[in-house]
Amino acid sequence: MKVLIGAFAHESNDFCPGFTTREMFEFYEGQDVLDHLPVSDIFQKAGIEMVPSIFACAQSYGPVEKETYLYFEGKILDTLRQNPDIDGIWMFCHGAMNVEEIGSGEYRLACDMREITGDRCAISFGMDLHGNLEEDFCRQVNIFRCYHTAPHTDQADTYRRTAQTLVHYLQHGYRIFPQMRKLPMIFPGEMAATTVEPMQGIIAQLKQWEASDPAIACASMYVGFAWTDAPRTSSTVVVVPATPEDEAYCAKKADELAAAVFDKRKEFCFEMPALPPRETVEESFRLPAPVCVTDMGDNPTAGTTGGSLVLLKEYLAAGSGGKRVLIAGIYDPQAFSSCIAHSPGDVFTLRLGLDIDSVTQPVDIRVIYRGCHKVLGYDFITNPPIERCQSCTVSIGNIDIVITNRPYAFTQKVNFSSCQLDPRKYDVFVTKFGYIFPELKELGRSYIMSNTPGESYQMIAELPYRKIKRPIFPLDHI
Ligand SMILES: [Zn+2]
Repeated sequence: MKVLIGAFAHESNDFCPGFTTREMFEFYEGQDVLDHLPVSDIFQKAGIEMVPSIFACAQSYGPVEKETYLYFEGKILDTLRQNPDIDGIWMFCHGAMNVEEIGSGEYRLACDMREITGDRCAISFGMDLHGNLEEDFCRQVNIFRCYHTAPHTDQADTYRRTAQTLVHYLQHGYRIFPQMRKLPMIFPGEMAATTVEPMQGIIAQLKQWEASDPAIACASMYVGFAWTDAPRTSSTVVVVPATPEDEAYCAKKADELAAAVFDKRKEFCFEMPALPPRETVEESFRLPAPVCVTDMGDNPTAGTTGGSLVLLKEYLAAGSGGKRVLIAGIYDPQAFSSCIAHSPGDVFTLRLGLDIDSVTQPVDIRVIYRGCHKVLGYDFITNPPIERCQSCTVSIGNIDIVITNRPYAFTQKVNFSSCQLDPRKYDVFVTKFGYIFPELKELGRSYIMSNTPGESYQMIAELPYRKIKRPIFPLDHI
């Protein structure tokens, strides 16, 4: 038997003022595809031949350009046409890819693959829990399951479980479909962390079903992605039957799960205090240090520009009052270039700010240049840290600012240490992210999720949605 393997993933933020283009994708072909996905041993062990297609994944940003989507999709479909004897397809697809003029990238890909293979192929997707699924997705893809963790730490488990289920389907010749229920509710991911209720309890239920109910192969709760404005934007629950005889039972379980989750809609909330920008600054000076502050409105992993100056301006206006503050990292390629033209120790006036929206209006600041570094980080699976972007550090009094040449969220210890920075030596450290990621939790003693304006603004009921299907909670009182 033969399976096609690949990854084509993006989380598209419709409120971001830019498109995601081809050069923004991390791209591999051939053996490199298999090396970047932790599933090869599962197919090898089952004696199934693997045909790599592509690995193309980009950091969250604005919608994917149509031409970029068609370029990568074309490569996957070409591989499929060249291998007419393929029995199965395993892909990592995020679930929130929104393509210019096309809509859901995952749905379009699934439909186009299905058109080539017909019903003879079993298709399996490992996905992110921030995906928005089309109503008909469950008629195209046989197996799909999303992460059970947010912040995400179980990507590999998800890929492996969907790969194992594909092997099981192929060995038995099953071509059945999941039971999927869309729920009229949507939340920012930060209100649906799996470390707190109600998601903690929901996930515990899913885990129990997967571990002990032989009729259920996979069970998922997709929170959805609130910053895609499309009719499919919503939460979804999915139950994948283990055998054709389990379909009716799994339909009942999916109904049960959908009702239980929707009943809890008013319980979704932030894990930590979520304060407006000014109160964030005041409170961060009062709490026991080091205080970790996340700039939730400008989270590049949710598709923002990474260039918001809102919290920097608040700290500059407040004065640091003897406290040491680190802000990592602000994206501004021009300011980055200005800095690297200097030598460490130079004092100069720097214009900082992308000037593309209200949160990136520039400021002129008098800074001391500290130096330039390569920012290392792990990719979204488990590979060794590699260069993610470059940074310059500048200081204004007690405030240190990291300026990056690409949008990047500092969430891992290695991000800081590769820039010769230790957040534990500061009273306050600010990072552009939403949740308090596990490694940030270890670095801080107190935490504030700052409810800042930006393209990942958390008060989603105030966003200018045009296409989302109504009514939907919490935009409507249902
Ligand atoms: Zn996610």
